[in-house]
Amino acid sequence: MSKNLQAIRGMNDIRPNESPVWRYLEAQVSGLLDTYGYSQVRLPIVEFTELFKRSIGEVTDIVEKEMYTFADRNGDLLTLRPEGTAGCVRAMLEHGLTGGGQVQKVWYNGPMFRHERPQKGRYRQFHQMGVEVFNLAGPDIDAELIILTWRLWGKLGLRDAVTLELNTLGTSEARARYRDALVAYLEVRRDQLDEDSQRRLTTNPLRILDSKNADTQALLVDAPKLDAYLDEESKAHFAGLQARLQAAGVPYVINSKLVRGLDYYGKTVFEWVTDKLGAQGTVCAGGRYDGLVEQLGGKTTPAVGFAMGVERLVLLLETLEAVPAELSRSVDVYLAAFGEPAELAALALAERLRDTLPSLRVVVNAGAGSFKSQLKKADKSGAELALILGDDELAQEQVGVKPLRDDSAQQTMSWNDLPSFLANRFGL
Ligand code: ATP
Ligand code: MG
Repeated sequence: MSKNLQAIRGMNDIRPNESPVWRYLEAQVSGLLDTYGYSQVRLPIVEFTELFKRSIGEVTDIVEKEMYTFADRNGDLLTLRPEGTAGCVRAMLEHGLTGGGQVQKVWYNGPMFRHERPQKGRYRQFHQMGVEVFNLAGPDIDAELIILTWRLWGKLGLRDAVTLELNTLGTSEARARYRDALVAYLEVRRDQLDEDSQRRLTTNPLRILDSKNADTQALLVDAPKLDAYLDEESKAHFAGLQARLQAAGVPYVINSKLVRGLDYYGKTVFEWVTDKLGAQGTVCAGGRYDGLVEQLGGKTTPAVGFAMGVERLVLLLETLEAVPAELSRSVDVYLAAFGEPAELAALALAERLRDTLPSLRVVVNAGAGSFKSQLKKADKSGAELALILGDDELAQEQVGVKPLRDDSAQQTMSWNDLPSFLANRFGL
């Protein structure tokens, strides 16, 4: 195929055989969020570039080098959203949904875009399911968000594969004081830092803490620690969160180097990580961002949220073989018919089955074909049973029922008996 007719690097098609696990995951998440009282928001994929610059931060990796930005036909500078929080806050403000202290608990699902180096678990178009809560300031809601993800891992069979890492970043004042101390310590050791960290020393020094460079990490062993600079309120908030996680039985580890790549976080930050996916091990990440709404022009509004990487969770489900087996079967019965009179009767019979058994998955053979070829198609469809309708069956208002997945015998039954037989067979 010529090059310009291929998909863009790092932007994947979800093929028909892959979509069942996506739909399973999405259904588990949305079903769970329904039970916790969260509502879905559906937001634009494109926003003004300014929104992301002002929220994510000018000197973050995302804004500096990962955004898909373009001028539209009016000359407006637009960006394909690299994450969901900024657009969500924008929408809350635009519709006055957080005014007067109104509590909002919302979630979203959809594609995000970042120009990163594509590799396993890292793509240029990827999908996030995210949750945001506005106007609740206490650690109780931070705990709820984490507890509901823990429940989700339980539903998905992933609990043994993930670890919760937790940290607190304190208030922006505490962070500013700490930043000065860290810079002072590193400034005199500048030549021992890797190139990226040298640059971050002036742009975003806290990000040096999660540098992957071993020499830089060694240098950080004796560096000032954020804990020592934390304000009392943040400490109390963090203690409150931990008490609630313990009460709910959610295991966690404290990672004092967890800083997150977006500027808007303060107080609680957390990541759910796995060692089953190689380098791209964070499957869910979030934290508190009490300053963001104000930063975008609203009133002071406490807020907290997280986002899950759908591709990484799909990979994890597949790696752990935690995908329910029944997902691989999408057809229950395949109705084969021979000759036009039987074809007509087959269509009517299929509709009758759909009336009485709405959740039965029925495929009617299309394109006629010999007995052998229709049975082959039936087998390929993944169906459990082939229903066979020829002239003889038609004359007696009967149908042949042929099991396709085991050796049990074929049988013949009347059209009238068929629905209750199928209901029984498929537990409908
Ligand atoms: P990472 O450290 O892996 O780059 P991040 O801190 O940039 O992640 P967030 O912006 O917090 O990630 O996004 C939340 C989640 O979205 C991540 O934990 C991850 O699961 C997923 N995610 C982020 N970037 C990508 C990507 N390029 N491809 C696939 N999933 C991603
Ligand atoms: Mg990233």
